[in-house]
Amino acid sequence: MDALIETDAAVLSTALLAWWERHGRGGIPWKQLPGGVRPAPEQDLDPYGIWIAEVMLQQTQLAVALPYWMRWMEAFPTVEELAAASLDQVRLQWQGLGYYSRARRLHEAAQLLVGRAWPHTLGEWMVLPGIGRTTAGSILSSAFNLRLPILDGNVKRVLARLKAHPRPPARDDALFWCWSEALLDSVRPRDINQALMDLGATLCTPRQPDCHRCPWQSHCAAYAAGDPRLWPVTEALKPLPFQAIGVGVVINADGEVLIDQRLEEGLLGGMWEFPGGKQEQGETIETCIARELKEELGIAVTVGTELITVDHAYSHKKLRFVVHLCDWVSGEPQPLASQQVRWVRPDDLGNYAFPSANARIIEALLGSLESSAHS
Ligand code: SF4
Repeated sequence: MDALIETDAAVLSTALLAWWERHGRGGIPWKQLPGGVRPAPEQDLDPYGIWIAEVMLQQTQLAVALPYWMRWMEAFPTVEELAAASLDQVRLQWQGLGYYSRARRLHEAAQLLVGRAWPHTLGEWMVLPGIGRTTAGSILSSAFNLRLPILDGNVKRVLARLKAHPRPPARDDALFWCWSEALLDSVRPRDINQALMDLGATLCTPRQPDCHRCPWQSHCAAYAAGDPRLWPVTEALKPLPFQAIGVGVVINADGEVLIDQRLEEGLLGGMWEFPGGKQEQGETIETCIARELKEELGIAVTVGTELITVDHAYSHKKLRFVVHLCDWVSGEPQPLASQQVRWVRPDDLGNYAFPSANARIIEALLGSLESSAHS
């Protein structure tokens, strides 16, 4: 055990809990008993809502996840109802949250959880799809007040600053787990974990740490060093690769548009989208769209005017979607590179789950159709 943490853990925990009782975030429905009260150590919370929330929060901030969680709990209030829903219904509820494989894994895990008692060990949770150690620890400590540490992005940042740790946290995972565990109060592990997350989310924020209100200021090595924003130390960043994507919004004589459903594997698996693909070197976007639609759907189109350009950054690449309206000329659309293709009326597009870049395309399409109806 690290000397500083070993000596100070009890002091740090006590100060953190005292701060949290007055300033911790309230209004997190899955962390409260019915009626909005924080649970006492001996009281359990419903693991179902906590599990859904924890998976949503893996890549998403609380304020964004909260309305999704509320809608989700209305649509699938129990694990039984989630297990019985179709994957398409589940994806529709997830639409807009990103990292869509999380929705599929929740659905898969629901099939494994239904009809049995809620697991009470890390191992039982970690064999479920989409659950790592920090998610499992957070579910178990939140629901059953078990003494298990967490190590999400907020906690790593706070601990890296507390210690002014000289290397990126990912390189010293075991050490960070050790620090997080050392802080766990034996009576209130649930509250300590929540307090750590709240400290990272409200005071020890990435760009503007508010050290003067922080209960750990007098213990914090990064504060003492002058500029806490220099921690956590990061790996040197490589610029993200960039790729232009030509996209065709193909309209037939009945005014329907063509969409396809991606294969289940890979990024955005199972989501619906407008067809298209990567622009090759030396190719115009119009040629790219015509080629992609021929290769992926077996159809010939006339590529018309540009509808919209949407820039979208993923964690590992930047994409620019250049979208053109197209007229269908010939060939029955076939799912040569997707699960299925479908002609749909533009006002039915809301019934399909699209990634967020496509949501802007739909908005532009509906706007363009409306203005041409009025012209
Ligand atoms: S003193 Fe500042 S840098 Fe240190 S833990 Fe508190 S908010 Fe973070």
